[in-house]
Amino acid sequence: MTTPEHLLTDRAKCVDCSGVRRAFQLGATLDDPINLSIGQPDFEVPEPIRRAAIEAIEQGRNGYTLTGGADDLRAAVSAHLRKDPGWRIGEGDLELLITSGTSGGLFLAFLVLCEPGCEAIVPDPYFVIYPALGPMTGATIVTCDTYPDFRMTAERVEPLITERTRVVLVNSPANPTGVVLRDDELRDLAELCQSRGIMLISDEIYDLFTYSNGLGDAGTCPSPARWTENMLLLRGFGKTYGCTGWRMGYAAGPSWLISEMAKFQQYSFVCAPSMAQAGLVGAFDIDMSDVVNAFERRRDLVKETFAGIANVSDCAGAFYGFVEVPEHLGITGTEFCEHAIKHNVVVIPGDVFSDRDTHIRISFACPDEKLKVGLEILADMMLPAREPTLGS
Ligand code: PMP
Repeated sequence: MTTPEHLLTDRAKCVDCSGVRRAFQLGATLDDPINLSIGQPDFEVPEPIRRAAIEAIEQGRNGYTLTGGADDLRAAVSAHLRKDPGWRIGEGDLELLITSGTSGGLFLAFLVLCEPGCEAIVPDPYFVIYPALGPMTGATIVTCDTYPDFRMTAERVEPLITERTRVVLVNSPANPTGVVLRDDELRDLAELCQSRGIMLISDEIYDLFTYSNGLGDAGTCPSPARWTENMLLLRGFGKTYGCTGWRMGYAAGPSWLISEMAKFQQYSFVCAPSMAQAGLVGAFDIDMSDVVNAFERRRDLVKETFAGIANVSDCAGAFYGFVEVPEHLGITGTEFCEHAIKHNVVVIPGDVFSDRDTHIRISFACPDEKLKVGLEILADMMLPAREPTLGS
């Protein structure tokens, strides 16, 4: 009898998540590791949101919602988008879709826009899902090398554009680098895409986590949506309100695109989880500034700890620092992470997010005390004096 594997599509075989699995396995052997690898917030979901979700379940909001999302949440998101970035959903040509996480929005967008023979430009380093969107939809993923400053600028994207390019995907604040692009950089990228008839997709899942040095002219997270409505804006609730498992996000953009994404949502995810939608109706009214300020202090700690020891990305947002393994150690990001495990600290090697293996990603979504100890251990490992002990 043949093994069932012969049934698998090339599409399935082409998606490789070994890097991510390897990163999780690295820490799995430790009892009480200092875990700086997790990309999810360490704060509680705000009480009013939890209460609203529980009440929704108890009051019977357990059935399907409309494909595009429940009316009350759609109204809340529309009101929010009117303030930031100033979009008027339902007026003119702009539409909105409540999605199953930001990943849901990404997947639907690629299903609608990409097919074999076309190309999509994504940053390198990238969020792990981005390269997989290629095999899943047939598109060729073209990576835009953003080293060493990790800025996906129009100058870097322009030479990669061909007549097959359909999509440019930008992520700011970025995972895994925390870099936040400036207003003018995003405007130039928007203008470039517009002039070439390419859809710009902006993954802004970390928009709330923009620290004082990353804020744009409007005093909020810079977005290309301030310059054009001819793009797809993807945002989420998971990171912002600490509810990544609720699988909640939204997509906004031109109605011709959103209606096609809604069609595929209807035949796949059907709708975002009903009780989570109900829970998040009042979310935009909750003041999250204490959380953001606490994360900014942690970001400062990351910068301070590695100052003079290693190059750290200009993390003005999200909750990651991308730290270069000092050249004098003569080892890769993966090798450094293996050594870190021996010191009870879990971080992710850069090659999980990149074609290169020169960095490590540190998540500071971790309680202050543990973070402090973990950072000191990592910085100590990077000092020249420690070099001889690394091989032990
Ligand atoms: N985009 C980026 C840049 C991310 O880091 C993540 C989550 N780590 C996602 C999208 C997916 O978010 P969600 O959990 O809402 O699907």
